[in-house]
Amino acid sequence: MYNQLERLPREQLRELQNKQLQQMVSYVYERVPFYRAQLELNGILPEDIRSVADLPRLPFTRKQALKDHYPFGLLAVPREQVIRIHASSGTTGKATVVCYTRNDIELFSEVMARSFIAAGARPGMLLHNAYGYGLFTGGLGTHYGAEKLGMTVVPVSGGMTQRQITLILDFKPEVICCTPSYAQTLGEEFKKLGIAPDELGLKYALLGAEPWTEAIRADVDANLGVRSTNLYGLSEIIGPGVSQECIEERVGSHIWEDHFYPEIVDAKSGEPLADGQEGVLIFTHLTREAMPLLRYWTGDITYLTHEPCPCGRTHVKMGPIRGRADDMLIIRGINLYPTQVEEVLMGIPDVVPHYQVIVERKSTLDEVEVKVEVTEDLMRTLAQETLSEDSIEADAQARTLRNQIQYAIKSTIGLNMKVSLVPPGTIPRSEGGKLRRVVDMRIF
Ligand code: ADP
Ligand code: ZN
Repeated sequence: MYNQLERLPREQLRELQNKQLQQMVSYVYERVPFYRAQLELNGILPEDIRSVADLPRLPFTRKQALKDHYPFGLLAVPREQVIRIHASSGTTGKATVVCYTRNDIELFSEVMARSFIAAGARPGMLLHNAYGYGLFTGGLGTHYGAEKLGMTVVPVSGGMTQRQITLILDFKPEVICCTPSYAQTLGEEFKKLGIAPDELGLKYALLGAEPWTEAIRADVDANLGVRSTNLYGLSEIIGPGVSQECIEERVGSHIWEDHFYPEIVDAKSGEPLADGQEGVLIFTHLTREAMPLLRYWTGDITYLTHEPCPCGRTHVKMGPIRGRADDMLIIRGINLYPTQVEEVLMGIPDVVPHYQVIVERKSTLDEVEVKVEVTEDLMRTLAQETLSEDSIEADAQARTLRNQIQYAIKSTIGLNMKVSLVPPGTIPRSEGGKLRRVVDMRIF
């Protein structure tokens, strides 16, 4: 079920990318005044860019450029040729508008169909699609890809959890798409109802739109009875379907690099980084028509690897997204991504992967509190009032667990954090969309 392009020998893939890049640079130079000006400013002519190795000569395109040219200023085609418009969910600031021609929608469907196959889905399988429909690219992007593959799509969208539960029980989907935090919510609901994972009939889950770790994967796989894989994307590049983990390996996501050329650069200097080194993920469109971008600064932090994959796909893989540059907290001079806390918690028994990081400034110092839920079993043996660090009650078991978490955080992240254990089910859950696990109460 492969598209042959996914297994193209690397030299041929590189040749294809070089050719596509040359065409793309001329295309935007001729059609997008913003890019013409950028190239002129840097003294570059389109013919100077001959291969992907020349990309570092070009400046980055930042989100600000999309905002400055809101809504249609970066279009490379007449507005009438745009058949669909999406806007980012605006997690950070004002929404950014993205446009698609008919060919762009075809490309979107193609990369999403590839992603479904990589995740284990096949034509004829039933898809419960709980990504949000609407301006957000998640719902419609996955929808068109699944239809192209020949799946049966149930366009549920996010939210209304009870209805989702009923539809899953009645329709028996084999595949589900949603955010990882919402998959956790659904898993918990089934557990509450006493429905065992094998009664559901779900097999595969494509989870994305927010950072997640192996701890969440283990939780979702156990509660929904699936083998979940990572689906990554962002509106500016196409939406979901920029990269996808293969079910064979489930380590790293293949970037569909015959369409989206990736680079990793240092967050401060912008210099290219080698395989395995963590930095900002950059994409250059090779085939988009409506609104192609050169060297788009995603702000997402990860690394690339060209290690051969047992699945036979030759496309480069990216690691999990550690977080967005915007999500990074600087606490007493130390950089912290919420996923780092999650990774630490994953190694500790008796806690479950539901947590919240709260940052406050007390007098001049930043204080971080981690609230983490304990398991039902542990809760039964503990008195509620012994959970918080402030409690004077000397419940040895709670105190030992708190100390263990605190020590693990201090020794891996280097920060002292207050740890509060909380009863199961008390930390806010995803109601369908992206979940924010950090509450930053500092005023800058
Ligand atoms: P917004 O920027 O408003 O959230 P998008 O819906 O375009 O709009 O979100 C894209 C962003 O979501 C990515 O840049 C990335 O930060 C995050 N994201 C998407 N998929 C994943 C994933 N699989 N893992 C981690 N983060 C993801
Ligand atoms: Zn693979």
